[in-house]
Amino acid sequence: MQQFAIFGNPVSHSKSPLMHNLVFKGYNYNACYGRYLLEDGEKLREKFLELGLKGINITVPHKEDAYRACDFLDEFAQKVGAVNTIVKRDGKLYGYNTDAPGFLKAISSFEPAKSVLFLGAGGTARSTSAILKDKGYDVTILNRSKERLEYFDQEGFETALFEDFQPRHFDLIINMTSAGLADESLPAPRELLQRIIPQAKACIDVIYGKETPFLKLAKEYTVPTKDGSDMLLYQGVIACEYFTNHTYTAQEIESKMKKAFIL
Ligand code: NDP
Repeated sequence: MQQFAIFGNPVSHSKSPLMHNLVFKGYNYNACYGRYLLEDGEKLREKFLELGLKGINITVPHKEDAYRACDFLDEFAQKVGAVNTIVKRDGKLYGYNTDAPGFLKAISSFEPAKSVLFLGAGGTARSTSAILKDKGYDVTILNRSKERLEYFDQEGFETALFEDFQPRHFDLIINMTSAGLADESLPAPRELLQRIIPQAKACIDVIYGKETPFLKLAKEYTVPTKDGSDMLLYQGVIACEYFTNHTYTAQEIESKMKKAFIL
């Protein structure tokens, strides 16, 4: 039996085991998927091999360690420096980033859209901004502090701090921060959000499983919203295509995996 797992810290909250096991069980695929609390990211490769796994997903805070642990990287993972899916083939570790294509698929329900404002400049913003730029979106990055914006400046994105931001229309406003995940904070000052949200076509949050203060605020203005569940689902679908070596189509995987979100 092939064994898969999610590595992260914390990892107990992860939906990934349920998502992937629903696919394996649904198609009688001889595999199972568990979770592993990895404290030291530098031990990722060693633990992966020691546990005899066929593949893993990687969540916070180990996506950069996962990138360094691979023998081969696909072009996109190489470009963004973050890996959330590893598959072992012939003893070698192959790394992929499925967060970004999963995110792209999740926001496709709001097409046509062109201008996008990211609130936050962390690891998830890095990978998803790269794929949006490749697809022709105009992405502006707004962050509360300067340090993380330097990468985006170098990559040619328009960036701003809260204090020098000029509010204007954006098709999509996306919370890429962890604000609202374990607290009730907004990702940017309320007065700033109140000036941009009413003009937006939609507000999206990458946080899933709860209605964040950001999405609550968007609803007050009757702006359409979406939380991070679809992103989670689609990154899982793409990862599962790699895990099962494309035995099933994305649609076949999605039809089983999405049950994890209604149980
Ligand atoms: P990082 O730790 O890399 O980055 C965090 C970002 O959030 C930084 O820009 C930071 O700003 C900002 N931030 C944090 N707290 C606040 C706050 N209270 N107010 C304003 N800004 C804040 O995080 P990740 O990119 O790894 O993750 C971001 C989010 O994406 C998480 O909530 C995570 O759960 C979610 N996620 C969802 C996925 C899904 O499938 N739905 C997949 C992957 C991630 P500063 O630079 O000033 O510190």
